[in-house]
Amino acid sequence: MVMTILVTPKTLANHTIRDFRMLIGGQWLNGNAAPIERIAPSHGTVVSRFASGTRANAEAAIRAARKAFDTGPWPTMTAAERSNVLLKAADLIAARTDELAFLDAIEAGKPISQVRGEIAGAVDIWRYAAALARDLHGESYNTLGDGTLGVVLREAVGVVSIITPWNFPFLIVSQKLPFALAAGCTTVVKPSELTSGSTVLLGEILLEAGLPAGALNIVTGTGPEVGAVMTSHPEVDMVSFTGSTGVGRLTMSNAAQTLKKVSLELGGKNPQIVFPDADLDAFIDAAVFGAYFNAGECCNAGSRLILHKSIADDVVARVAELAKKVKVGDPLDPETQVGAIITPQHLDKIASYVSGARAGGAEIAHGGDALDLGMGQFMAPTILSGVRPDMAVAREEVFGPVLSVLTFETVAEAIEIANSIDYGLSAGVWSRDFDTCLTIGRKVRAGTVWMNTFMDGASELPFGGYKQSGLGRELGRHAVEDYTETKTLNMHIGNRTNWWMPR
Ligand code: NAD
Repeated sequence: MVMTILVTPKTLANHTIRDFRMLIGGQWLNGNAAPIERIAPSHGTVVSRFASGTRANAEAAIRAARKAFDTGPWPTMTAAERSNVLLKAADLIAARTDELAFLDAIEAGKPISQVRGEIAGAVDIWRYAAALARDLHGESYNTLGDGTLGVVLREAVGVVSIITPWNFPFLIVSQKLPFALAAGCTTVVKPSELTSGSTVLLGEILLEAGLPAGALNIVTGTGPEVGAVMTSHPEVDMVSFTGSTGVGRLTMSNAAQTLKKVSLELGGKNPQIVFPDADLDAFIDAAVFGAYFNAGECCNAGSRLILHKSIADDVVARVAELAKKVKVGDPLDPETQVGAIITPQHLDKIASYVSGARAGGAEIAHGGDALDLGMGQFMAPTILSGVRPDMAVAREEVFGPVLSVLTFETVAEAIEIANSIDYGLSAGVWSRDFDTCLTIGRKVRAGTVWMNTFMDGASELPFGGYKQSGLGRELGRHAVEDYTETKTLNMHIGNRTNWWMPR
């Protein structure tokens, strides 16, 4: 019996390790300390070195962004000029897809064919932001009284700190930076210290596309050193953060000291609710994809199956059968579907969730163990049946290829289980009955609810979480407005004279 299809990593003997520098005020700088060495999660060897940014580097980057905002030219350029830079960047990103995809694949352990799709998605987002840049506008009211005109302006919020995680390095910076730039903001970006390569390359691309010095600064380094400055510095006007709920909370509390605007994209523990009348053939495929895409290291992972009791045994057996066919291994092999786990420590954390669930009475329908491919760290696609809603594996973000199966009997019970946790990022419902889908769609507290599909997205569709999955939305037609302040100009033709004292 095939248990998991393994794609053994090929050696990286011919790989040249690249040193990535920081971009501050238009200058490329090395760090003062020893660089951060990134060990490929799939190969166990160093593949990239990132400058180790310090508090002083972060402060210098914020000063450069402040100067670029206060003195221009980026915020004072026309929307058409800004839009053209973003369009040029999109073309350059597309042209460098191979290089970008290689870096995200090898630093994050993600399958290269998947990352190529992410880069294509990012190109679309840069083009969408370029279009929105030209449509950013306020409102005017000539109906407020004779001689009065009210004009509502949209002004760039100012200096924006952008902090990103390791699981979708290029895609996530592309969900933030083009919209901030489209609004006329200047920025300081900190990628994850595990996966900084493609973000640094984006800096090269934007300078080539014509972005003025200081409008984008990139500081590589750790969260407590660099990120802490970026979230608390008084010269920063807004923080746009994607990462764990714990660090998101810290970000909000740091930003609160100077009342910065905050946008948070945080964790998820997303349910897929399945009714007996669903098209199970379609669902089984979506369940496997939803749980194991990006090795489950995905905020949107469909990591909780909430199955109607009458179909649970059949669905678990079929999901387990399909999970055996998932190809796990070398992210650089175009056939691979599930790559490596980001770090050995993270693999241990995933394994401890699985052993805790087993100890609590859950059963392993498939997988359950780490996989030995001779190098790197990998985990078998895992299904846990008999999970109860109160177990940690059903409530917390495992962030690995682990699918928990729970059951329900009534619609109300399904909704209660779905809503019983702190997260509310996304959810899926599968049924051929429109009323059932709509009831779940309205009652489940999540930023996105998929009906008879899962994890589809588009640049036009807002994305973000309810509850502790975040604050604010990314993408969609209001995405540029999120990076603006609203200013009211209240004007009068000639001096208004009818105050307290009649004249
Ligand atoms: P993380 O919170 O550990 O780190 C995210 C970023 O924050 C990194 O750049 C890190 O260096 C930085 N950071 C760490 N400590 C900091 C501090 N004290 N101050 C400022 N910055 C700090 O998250 P991660 O492990 O990189 O990513 C996985 C998490 O991201 C998961 O919880 C996942 O759900 C979430 N995520 C959410 C979305 C979404 O859109 N909702 C998308 C992707 C990932």
